[in-house]
Amino acid sequence: MTSSPSIVFFQDDLRMRDNPALAAAADRGNPLICLYIWNPDASGYARPGAASRWWLHHSLHTLADNLAKAGNTLILKTGHAPEVIAGLVRQLGASHLYWNRACEPTALEEEQKILKLLESTNAQATIFHGNTLVDPSSVQTLAQQPYSVFTPFWKRFQSNLTLKPPVRAPRHLPPAPSVKLPSNSLASLELLPRFDWAQGLREAWSPGEDGAQSLLRKFLQAPVQSYETDRDRPDYSRTSHLSPHLHFGEISPRDIWHAADRAARRPTTTRAKAGLTAFRRQLVWREFSRHLLIHFPRMAQQPLRMEFQQFPWRPHPEFLRAWQRGQTGYPLIDAGMRELWHTGWMHNRVRMVVASFLTKHLLLPWEEGAQWFWDTLVDADLANNTFGWQWVAGCGADAAPFFRIFNPIMQGKKFDPDGVYVCRWVPELSKLSPAWIHAPWEAPPSVLQEADVDLGTTYPLPIVNHAEARTRALEAYQQCKILRSRTIQEPVTTP
Ligand code: FAD
Repeated sequence: MTSSPSIVFFQDDLRMRDNPALAAAADRGNPLICLYIWNPDASGYARPGAASRWWLHHSLHTLADNLAKAGNTLILKTGHAPEVIAGLVRQLGASHLYWNRACEPTALEEEQKILKLLESTNAQATIFHGNTLVDPSSVQTLAQQPYSVFTPFWKRFQSNLTLKPPVRAPRHLPPAPSVKLPSNSLASLELLPRFDWAQGLREAWSPGEDGAQSLLRKFLQAPVQSYETDRDRPDYSRTSHLSPHLHFGEISPRDIWHAADRAARRPTTTRAKAGLTAFRRQLVWREFSRHLLIHFPRMAQQPLRMEFQQFPWRPHPEFLRAWQRGQTGYPLIDAGMRELWHTGWMHNRVRMVVASFLTKHLLLPWEEGAQWFWDTLVDADLANNTFGWQWVAGCGADAAPFFRIFNPIMQGKKFDPDGVYVCRWVPELSKLSPAWIHAPWEAPPSVLQEADVDLGTTYPLPIVNHAEARTRALEAYQQCKILRSRTIQEPVTTP
């Protein structure tokens, strides 16, 4: 008698290695159905943006290849996950379901619906925490509350949390032989753009598990050694670029953590050790943003600090367009926005500066910036993106203070001192010397002429004056009485 099949429900864990849900299903040994569900009707933040859909297409392709090598097939279905899963369980008589918990509010709601629908079947669901270092709800303050400040959260990870070791990729995953299960084709999901604008993405990235492992190896060989000192320099390439791979779960945070840990235990320099610690700290920022989104699921739509609901934002479509297109007249901002458009990624320091410019210099709502990032980033991630925007705007839990208004000229001089990053993305300024490149409007006319720069024609004049914009932003924050109150949303109980 053949045993009833198990189903592994893939979400943002598109990998074989250190995938606890897949490993547990393989260990059970029942015939296995590997399932991915695409919901074409999803809207808002439940629908990945255009750059993410491009990535997802390639990631699913690679996962299907890797499953095929292990003898299995990736089954693609479309529709609303709870109904699709409940239907399959009934049709196939599946006895076990496995998945790794996602952190997004929609995914968690769907998870509750799946569990409810399964009550009327004999199937048993097992849920893992494969996308975070630990179960996010297991990290609490002494008062059994969620953390809202990063430093004590990070200290927990440094001191008394033991992380499970990564699990190996299963070698054999026999499919259910008696089951004829039709799968949608990958092309029919229509994840790729109709008009092909993805050339820059193709040049910059190799989506998939192998690409992720190879990036990690290269990063740990050299760049991590100067990560602590150079990670803020967009002109260097000293960060891991693992963010899209992490978002889609092509590599697990635990796998990265342990690889960094092993590297730190080998004989190495003090500088390299500091780099490895600084790198692991960033993984804990990722963990912290997930912790917040799970406990404050409304934060993707609403500021965590309630007083910001009254903030006098000034929507301005032309300013928004100039920012999106990298035409603000501030070279560092424009370089960042063009890097984003071309490669689907932007350096973290520059993300902070462009986000500060949008919310403080232009007084545009942070949600507008978060939405643009959502559509254009290959690593668009609800937890990290919401957290990053609220942190910069000052309305998040452990946010930058409202009076921190990044000066885009000074940030350029400090973190791109030779103008290498600006020249790369704003070629019309490439003949300007580093002395003027971050504030071309201050250059004498003869210098501009020699560099073929005609401000207002070949490159825009600044759309706002920095000093005036700074004063206006501070007044707006005062008006909102941000100074005095600090009330955050009520946390919800986690599943
Ligand atoms: P590394 O420096 O190599 O760090 C390793 C990993 O740690 C990253 O891949 C990422 O998963 C995590 N990490 C690093 N910095 C942060 C951070 N500040 N917060 C949370 N996790 C972090 N990151 C996203 O993955 N998706 C987003 O949509 C996103 N939106 C952002 C929006 C704003 C306004 C800001 C300021 C930051 C945002 N970030 C986002 C965080 C950060 O900019 C990126 O994770 C980082 O630039 C990715 O590059 P990397 O992989 O080379 O990072």
